[in-house]
Amino acid sequence: MLADVFRQTIARGLQRKAIRTCSKWARLYRIMGPPHPGPWGPGPAPWTLDMHDSLAPVNIGQKSAQMGYTETALNITLYKIDIENLDCLYVLPAKTPDASEFSAARFDPAIELSTHISSMFSSVKNVGHKRAGAVNLYIRGSNSRSALKSIPVAFIVFDELDEMNQDNIPLAEERTSGRENPQIWKISTPTLPNEGINELFLESTQEHYEFICPFCSRIIELIWPDAIKIIGDHHSNCEDSHLQCPKCKHKLDHETKTIWLADGKWTPYGDASLDVRGFYINQLYSIKRRPEEVVKLYFKGLIDKASEQEFFNSKLGLPHIVKGAQVQAHEVNRARGSRRKDDPLPDNKIITMGVDQGRWLYYEIVAWDFESLGNDLNMSAKANVLAEGKVVDFEDLDVLMRQYQVLKCVIDAQPDRRKAYEFACKYWGHVLLCFYARGQMGKMITIDPSTEQHKITVDRTSWLDVSLNRFRLKTITLPQDLSEEYPEHIQNLVKHYKTDKYGNPMGEYRNMGPDHLAHAHCYAEIALPLAAALTTNKNVRIYL
Ligand SMILES: [Zn+2]
Repeated sequence: MLADVFRQTIARGLQRKAIRTCSKWARLYRIMGPPHPGPWGPGPAPWTLDMHDSLAPVNIGQKSAQMGYTETALNITLYKIDIENLDCLYVLPAKTPDASEFSAARFDPAIELSTHISSMFSSVKNVGHKRAGAVNLYIRGSNSRSALKSIPVAFIVFDELDEMNQDNIPLAEERTSGRENPQIWKISTPTLPNEGINELFLESTQEHYEFICPFCSRIIELIWPDAIKIIGDHHSNCEDSHLQCPKCKHKLDHETKTIWLADGKWTPYGDASLDVRGFYINQLYSIKRRPEEVVKLYFKGLIDKASEQEFFNSKLGLPHIVKGAQVQAHEVNRARGSRRKDDPLPDNKIITMGVDQGRWLYYEIVAWDFESLGNDLNMSAKANVLAEGKVVDFEDLDVLMRQYQVLKCVIDAQPDRRKAYEFACKYWGHVLLCFYARGQMGKMITIDPSTEQHKITVDRTSWLDVSLNRFRLKTITLPQDLSEEYPEHIQNLVKHYKTDKYGNPMGEYRNMGPDHLAHAHCYAEIALPLAAALTTNKNVRIYL
């Protein structure tokens, strides 16, 4: 009896010594639940095998949804803890619900199904901090700076990077400073071109998963649209669409995928000598999801913007800007009028100013033209931009308030709330601090009932829609001597479409670079109905 235990212990010890790679470790210790129960194997996601064993210090995964990248990152994390005794940090977009869901839906099943993994951990109750003997696993949301401080680790995963608070990513990365050979994984479904995961991928080896066509024996890749034979012309009649070899056009059966994908290889399309490896994959590779689902969403995307965005981002794993989601250069150019910034002011106009706080104070000053003051004022009014630009401090805003006889100014409340507040007190009734919020209905403007707060709350997407749509609707005139930054900032705000948890399409503006003047432009727009309410002494609601 004792001899048996002794033999088993020796055997286990030898077995552990033989584990030099993460994929070996996962095959031995990781037990999966449904839909592929049993010991882990690369079968359901063959492209992840080589990813498990990457030794690159930085690894970038640009992917479509549900391609096994999170499972891979979890395996590597557990391997680092078990075999290399390294402290690890797993970062998700938010603490709630992402970090708690990850802990319950990914981490807990991994320990429940494997006696080895469950024996590794001495304490797992805390959602954000699991202990494996002297080694720590931190699971954190990117939205809290304090949760990312003072935790030294040698391995970090950023999961769904494009949804994270981008400002806090460098803070998390600093956690590896001073550690020998740290490794970082960043994975995400992409959003916009040259942003987030896509920007990082473009600076990597840019590897694609290639394999040999079972019919023509040439090296091929499953890419849209070459690798798909579309049958039908609508999302309701395309179920016979199927995969095909992009070279010999022979049908590739979805059912036999595991066979012909098994010997695939990651091939660099970028600079192979880089020590940042990038892994790109799309849903045509999915063993689980059928290719006709991709075709279905393609047809849906032809009629609605949220589906178009989802088709490119979540199915093809590609960044994408939906048509009309970004103001075009020619739309800004054609808005230029003959007026120059220091020409005399037009008579008898309502004049508003929007101010966005950044390293500078960015402003836009608008004189408004409208037939009559009434409901939905922003839709009927035309904007004549008198001036735009940036100044150093709040004293400079005083000069602008007087020079342009600004009736109402809306200013970004952040980051210097105190200075903005002092400015509002100085021009009591003429300046409001603006907070962007979610869950506000459309163009509502919620005015804080205590007037001494000088505070309003608005829905970000709705008001950016109204103010940026002016360029398409040709209801804006810009000064001839526009700053160089202005067109750039306006174009840097791009609407990204999503479907919310109830399946409703929603949009959110993301920036592809500096966007302060675009926000100043938006605040000047918000100021219009507030100015109208001030001159008529009526509730702002009647102008919305
Ligand atoms: Zn072929």
